[in-house]
Amino acid sequence: MSHYSEQTGVSRLSNLAIDLAEEKIKVIDLTTPLTPQTPALRLPEPFLNLVDLELEEVAAYDNRGPLWSHNNIHIGEHFGTHVDAPVHWISGKEGRDISQLPVKRLVAPAVVIDMSAEVSSNPDFLLEVSHIEAWERIHGSIPHGAWLIYRTGWEQFAHDEKLFLNSDDTGSHTPGISAECAKWLSEKANIVGVGVETVGIDAGKGFDLEPPFPVHHYLLGNDKYGVTSLKNVSSLPVTGAVIIVAPLPFVGGTASPARVLALVE
Ligand code: MN
Repeated sequence: MSHYSEQTGVSRLSNLAIDLAEEKIKVIDLTTPLTPQTPALRLPEPFLNLVDLELEEVAAYDNRGPLWSHNNIHIGEHFGTHVDAPVHWISGKEGRDISQLPVKRLVAPAVVIDMSAEVSSNPDFLLEVSHIEAWERIHGSIPHGAWLIYRTGWEQFAHDEKLFLNSDDTGSHTPGISAECAKWLSEKANIVGVGVETVGIDAGKGFDLEPPFPVHHYLLGNDKYGVTSLKNVSSLPVTGAVIIVAPLPFVGGTASPARVLALVE
């Protein structure tokens, strides 16, 4: 009787379906809407950038297709809310591509660490191990197999790429995670990965850290994943949510735009 409750005879999934229908469990969309203006990473010269989103109209109820409308999608792998797979980074180049992420890890608990107050006075704020230890003293250990959602309040800038990337002569100023903390998360915390509100999983000034872009380096090098450009993170409880992270399974792909949904009681 693995999937039936002895007491009620109703399956757990049926109960979940009822709770969803009655909105005792709500579905929250953590995904940034995809438009050509959705903010994207801008690498400096001499590096090459990915394309932004373009919906290329192929037919629109016209002589190209009188009863239907459809488009070709042109999009970079790392556009909008997206999942980074291990092969994205040189430290994970022998690892999984985006089609190979175990689906079990893509439906998992999520816990939220909120540093939005610190970030509001310091856009270059870096999460440290001590912040996670302080969180764990209050909320208990990060559950095994959970996603760690790093709340920074940065989604408030997602409507405007200039504000979102916050770049000046010295680079991009957006919050991130210290190298020490990234190493700790990849080696000591049994997490699936990290979800962030910013354009990438590393700080805007991540190149200046040692190693450069330490979240990419350590997480992707340890078969852990990253999700970026999340929104509505402030609607999540600190603990108790379940998230569904759904990248498309591009074989050989290094990332994919993803729909990310949270189930919240
Ligand atoms: Mn990416």
